[in-house]
Amino acid sequence: MKEQIRLLLKLQEVDERLFEARHTIKDVPGKIAVLQDQATKFDALLNEERGKVEEAMGYLREQNGMLKDEEQRIAKTKQQLQLIKNAREYAASQRQMEAVKKAKMDREEEIIKLMEAIEGSKQKLAQHEAEFAELKSHLEAEEAELTKAVKKAEARIAAMENERNQAASGIDANVLRHYEIVAGRIEPVVVPARGSVCMGCHMNIPPQLYNILFRANSLEICPSCQRIIYLEAALEEDGDSAKNNDNAQGDSSD
Ligand SMILES: [Zn+2]
Repeated sequence: MKEQIRLLLKLQEVDERLFEARHTIKDVPGKIAVLQDQATKFDALLNEERGKVEEAMGYLREQNGMLKDEEQRIAKTKQQLQLIKNAREYAASQRQMEAVKKAKMDREEEIIKLMEAIEGSKQKLAQHEAEFAELKSHLEAEEAELTKAVKKAEARIAAMENERNQAASGIDANVLRHYEIVAGRIEPVVVPARGSVCMGCHMNIPPQLYNILFRANSLEICPSCQRIIYLEAALEEDGDSAKNNDNAQGDSSD
């Protein structure tokens, strides 16, 4: 029975480590999703910024096209002016040409401002692109780090599962089933009793049960919480089987 308790304690200890290892892995996909989400958001912002620059460049092309039209109109009017004999008509055409010249000058000013603004936007975009490249490599490194940690944890988990199977194989099937059922509700399942108190639920253990625990011939359950209880003193007696951990079968006297 002592061996059964020892195996159960071993199983419990492995289960605790397994739980922790699985817990660290459980968070990783979420963390990776956060990193990827960050990259996606930054990428979307950059695209928006690129779109705005493109839009401004389109507007600039339009303005340059209109400027060309105005230049043509001015040249054409100049030619026409030479052919006009009527003074009133001449004055009217000239006024018209002055108006176009004014529009052209305004447009030239507008184009210069636009070009400056586009230049500024392009510089900012280049800066943001550089920042994003840096952020992205940082995110990728972090993701690689997490993936590596998961692989390591998975290897550790596989080793622990092996350890668990070894401990479990030595435990009586009914006891193991009880352990699994209780483990689904409360942890730890295997606890010592001290001073006739269960260390799991801190309730008193009936005196006759406490006496049974002293003999350590059977596996006992706390009547209050259903945990498997044992006496440390009883377990420490006869150190032989304590040291002898290799695949011990225990005394399966149920
Ligand atoms: Zn209890």
